[in-house]
Amino acid sequence: MTRGSSTARAAGIVTLVVAGLLGSAYVLGRSLVPDQTPRQSTGVTTSADGPHYADQPSAGEPGAAPSSSAGPAEAGQDGSGRDAGGDNLFGAHATTGTPRLALTFDDGPDPRYTPQVLDLLREYDVRATFCVVGENAQNHPELVQSIVDAGHTLCNHSWHHDVGLGARSADAIRSDLLRTNAAIRAAVPNAPIVWYRQPGGAWTYPVVSVAQQLGMTPLHWSVDPSDWELPGANKITATVLSQAEPGSVVLLHDAGGDRQGTVEALRRILPDLTARFDLEALPTDPT
Ligand SMILES: [Zn+2]
Repeated sequence: MTRGSSTARAAGIVTLVVAGLLGSAYVLGRSLVPDQTPRQSTGVTTSADGPHYADQPSAGEPGAAPSSSAGPAEAGQDGSGRDAGGDNLFGAHATTGTPRLALTFDDGPDPRYTPQVLDLLREYDVRATFCVVGENAQNHPELVQSIVDAGHTLCNHSWHHDVGLGARSADAIRSDLLRTNAAIRAAVPNAPIVWYRQPGGAWTYPVVSVAQQLGMTPLHWSVDPSDWELPGANKITATVLSQAEPGSVVLLHDAGGDRQGTVEALRRILPDLTARFDLEALPTDPT
């Protein structure tokens, strides 16, 4: 029995080591700032109604893209970290490149939260950038119109928030991004869409290349309060205010789960940020 339990114990250790390695890749895949201690996550997603997305690879990512055949969950979780080692941005912009700070709102539009975000931004006379999901743009074209009408700028965030998109063929990536742009332009003809943000930040060379071929600049971020993990408004506020600096690109979410905490945090963040920084919508003519 000693031998048997020893074997079992060895197997357990191997499992732990593999899990640890995967966890490392996961962290590398989602964290831009190497010295920032990432909050450990079990990959649990939110449980609110509606589509659930997160900008971190997640085992709980629901509803694989219908057209995907490559096992998007497994391809998506480790793709960027495994392919790229520590620096996995493939040249994606993580800062504004100027002293100005940019707020970005991902995964929408969502009729529950996007209007609240728009109201707060209007109250503080702030323009921001919305990284919209194609199917949500299709379902809520009036919200895309409201975003543009208010002077905010747009960013393509894939059709179905496909974290594994970068592991698919260039043709599949191109098709996904074009479909998303078409849904945005069905809502707002001629809307400039010059930014692309890969769901989960799971960048790969093909997804960066295709985005650029389609005239979009890959956009990452530099401040991530992990609001998708529902840490509460206090924590979201504290993280953003402590990490914001000139040039920051702040990642927030106006959809993909219960985002009331993000809305409440935004209410507290805006007075402070607008006092300390010039805030800008990412330009539609990036150089
Ligand atoms: Zn996202």
